[in-house]
Amino acid sequence: MSRIGIFGGTFDPVHVGHIAVAVRVQAALQLDRVELMVANEPWQKLDRPRLSPAQDRLAMVEAAVEDIDGVVASSVEIDRGGLTYTVDTLKAYRGDNPGVSLFLILGSDAAASIDTWHRYEEIAEMAEIVVVDRPGAMGQRPPVAHQVVDCPLLDLSSTQVRQWADAGQPLDGLIPPAALSYIRQEGLYE
Ligand code: ATP
Ligand code: MG
Repeated sequence: MSRIGIFGGTFDPVHVGHIAVAVRVQAALQLDRVELMVANEPWQKLDRPRLSPAQDRLAMVEAAVEDIDGVVASSVEIDRGGLTYTVDTLKAYRGDNPGVSLFLILGSDAAASIDTWHRYEEIAEMAEIVVVDRPGAMGQRPPVAHQVVDCPLLDLSSTQVRQWADAGQPLDGLIPPAALSYIRQEGLYE
């Protein structure tokens, strides 16, 4: 039985907070791998101006995890296209792999609002919910069965990174170096 962690997000851009969560949960729960699942069109964020193209968000995640064992980027939601609903993603994994145990990894801010997600009861039936605390949402928990994994608390968000980028400030140490190279090469967030 393989154990696969799914850590979904917009990753606009991926930052070291995301990577630390993926690495810690993979090790703590002895998962075969954690997949950073890049949302195609996140329905929660459609009103955001300047959402980066999905292919760029995927490329940044691919670069960020390239040298990390047990953590990979996934383009399943981008390949499916359209609006991204986690329930569809989990269904696809279930259908393809009957022998798989799925773990859906959520920061505590996302976990606390899972009951607003499309068909969230089915999500909780298909996957074990794993919550990691996040500064600003400490102790927030979902109204479904879940487990909590301890991770280092990194008070960092993509929103904050974009704001610093807008202000022309350096992103070194906040974004994995290979992803930062991609950002510079493509002129993202300028
Ligand atoms: P944004 O500010 O654009 O919402 P974000 O930093 O929250 O970006 P997302 O792509 O929205 O990143 O988040 C994907 C997942 O990662 C969510 O489950 C979120 O809770 C979690 N996450 C993001 N940053 C952290 C962090 N610093 N610590 C723990 N979990 C995090
Ligand atoms: Mg977020």
